[in-house]
Amino acid sequence: MRGSPLRILVVGAGLAGLAVARALRLAGLRPDVTEKLPPSERPDFGLYLPGNAERALRRLDLDGPVRRLGQVIHRQRFLDATGAPLCEVDLDGFWGGVGECRALPHRDLYRVLLTGAGGAVRHGAEVSAVEPLPGRVGVTFTDGTAAEYDLVVGADGPRSSVRALAALGGPPRPAGQVVYRSVVRDGPAVADWTALLGQRAGFLVVPIGAGRLHCYADEAGGTLPADPKARLREVFSGYGGPVPEVLDALDEVHVELSDEVELGRWSRGRVLLVGDAAHATAPALSQGAAMALEDAVVLAESLAAAGSVEAALLAYESRRRPRTRWVRDRTRDRNRTRDVPPALRDPLLRGRGGRIFQEHYRLLVGPL
Ligand SMILES: Cc1cc2nc3c(=O)[nH]c(=O)nc-3n(C[C@H](O)[C@H](O)[C@H](O)COP(=O)(O)OP(=O)(O)OC[C@H]3O[C@@H](n4cnc5c(N)ncnc54)[C@H](O)[C@@H]3O)c2cc1C
Repeated sequence: MRGSPLRILVVGAGLAGLAVARALRLAGLRPDVTEKLPPSERPDFGLYLPGNAERALRRLDLDGPVRRLGQVIHRQRFLDATGAPLCEVDLDGFWGGVGECRALPHRDLYRVLLTGAGGAVRHGAEVSAVEPLPGRVGVTFTDGTAAEYDLVVGADGPRSSVRALAALGGPPRPAGQVVYRSVVRDGPAVADWTALLGQRAGFLVVPIGAGRLHCYADEAGGTLPADPKARLREVFSGYGGPVPEVLDALDEVHVELSDEVELGRWSRGRVLLVGDAAHATAPALSQGAAMALEDAVVLAESLAAAGSVEAALLAYESRRRPRTRWVRDRTRDRNRTRDVPPALRDPLLRGRGGRIFQEHYRLLVGPL
């Protein structure tokens, strides 16, 4: 796009917001980034990144620093609840030519993106009003200050305020699962991405480097337990494989309800939603970060190629819709398999599980 540099506001400094800021900076723009939380350490979560996340990081010129973090994951192993093998996916074979699969601490990726975004985030700044105007957007902050922008990017997560303020959608829909996360030190030795599939529940363990394990578990339901650690021990006490040792080594456990966001449109005037604000899903495919990184790459490319902001936002949405829809639909498919009784499901997975799980990523191996 020709003319004077665009004034852009990115609301939210999570992975999506920072990735957008990075992509825009690479395109020669200097967006403002606001984050409602004060600057503080991010929570101690692990993150698994399938190969398309590394491809997007390469396009953001951040694959170098990320390659030093966490651990490359070569294989996904699916076990039944007792720990007996069901099937495997050879990740190097499947994602070869796209990117390595990696598991790492969330806060390590956050730090790389923060540096890549130029480091300047206005913390404690929340948006209280967003007014799409002809050719620009009026923004008011909760501290009473106001400004006008050529483009506002809402990257403020599944419970996005920008989404509500721009009348793009209401609250997220519960995806029907209680999800638990923890980082375990001094746990068992686990080399691969290893998931134990129970009935209406699952337990995942992934090494994230330096002897640490990222643990993720979910169960069907819609109510948060009062004591998440006790609940994890109750639900998964009968599981085999590495689970008993992981349960013994658990320290802090974070719990939340998984959200899904499905919108008819992602922009109104010059206000655009990206990342979980636009298309959050339950985390079954571990595609949230990859989708956020891809959003950033495609947004910067769309702005560079189009003749106007409005045309760029239309081009952006038409490129991103098929991939995010695919992730949502395959996530729902994968979650539905949880409801099938293991006596029916497990023989099928022993025979064809590797191909079925691989198929869930087929579109994502293709070009952005
Ligand atoms: C249990 C669980 C496990 C997951 N595991 C994985 C995984 O293994 N791999 C993977 O790729 N993804 C995973 N995800 C998803 C992934 O973390 C997200 O999709 C990804 O981080 C993108 O998030 P985001 O930046 O869009 O939103 P968020 O991370 O929610 O960031 C939004 C930011 O905006 C800020 N904000 C909110 N409102 C305002 C406001 N009004 N004004 C200013 N700032 C605001 C918030 O404080 C926050 O910093 C998981 C998610 C869950 C819940």
